[in-house]
Amino acid sequence: MSGRHLLGVRDLGAEGIGEVLRLAETFEEVGRRPIPRVPALRGKTVVSAFFEDSTRTRLSFELAAKRLSADVSTFSSSSSSLNKGESLRDTVLTIEAMGVDAFVVRHACAGVPAQVAGWLSGDASVLNAGDGAHEHPTQALLDCFTLVRERRRRFGTVAAGEAVFAGLQVAIVGDIRHSRVARSCLFAFTALGASVTFVAPPTLLPPSLDGWPAEVSHDLDDVLPKCDVAYLLRLQNERMEGQYLPSLREYTATYGLTAERARLLGPSALVMHPGPIRRGVELAAEVADGPASLVTSQVASGVAVRMAVLYLLLGSGAPIGA
Ligand code: ASP
Repeated sequence: MSGRHLLGVRDLGAEGIGEVLRLAETFEEVGRRPIPRVPALRGKTVVSAFFEDSTRTRLSFELAAKRLSADVSTFSSSSSSLNKGESLRDTVLTIEAMGVDAFVVRHACAGVPAQVAGWLSGDASVLNAGDGAHEHPTQALLDCFTLVRERRRRFGTVAAGEAVFAGLQVAIVGDIRHSRVARSCLFAFTALGASVTFVAPPTLLPPSLDGWPAEVSHDLDDVLPKCDVAYLLRLQNERMEGQYLPSLREYTATYGLTAERARLLGPSALVMHPGPIRRGVELAAEVADGPASLVTSQVASGVAVRMAVLYLLLGSGAPIGA
């Protein structure tokens, strides 16, 4: 991984993604030890600065930093001086002045992590933990890691090297327009050789897909039998500024992976979702909990992948440690 920050998966390319995935395998092994901790980032301080809700990403970043022996501080925007009128810039510079090595930043506005990186005067790193509808790089990285590992476990060999997803057909289904996960996954999956089809109603697609390496379909029933992976997205109501759908019921009937529709999937097809799931809306409970689902495995991969990213950005290059 070159560079000091992780702002988008787009910047990494196949080589950078491959480096993270290889290192994550090592850290996954650390996670299985009785004492799942290595001294790799001892003496480093990581601040998790989440200005938007999160369960998985925040916890797994914090756990990852702790497993690397870093000190972790949690900044909570709802109980901070932002409420007294302090600007975001002043808040960031205040935290930086305390001596911080990494900021893990989530914000409802696209571009905030890049802006934070531009404000810093020292050499702290910024890791984007999701910015508006822009990018969520570690989600895409953990999804790639999960897919590689699960395909190896279930089907034996998978293509080696940087084109590890060569020939793989991925359908990303749902609210593409407001989803940072859709963007990051598109760039990560295609960088590793997959073909991606966005499946959504026209209202839930971005106004332009110029330069996006994706096919588009409005017919989920047509796409499902042909795909190796069905990746479902939540409707991002928090980013919707109007009426995008006639009704939730109609959305589920047309674009939800219901138990009945899941029967259209091939016998070896896999189902993914970044969470949080709205069971019964975009994904039926029995499909989310069924044998094709990688949902739990995705969450489990998050810690090892975030350890890899933190180590690559903050580690001294010295051996990871016992
Ligand atoms: N957890 C993912 C995100 O933060 C997906 C979602 O919220 O639906 O973007």
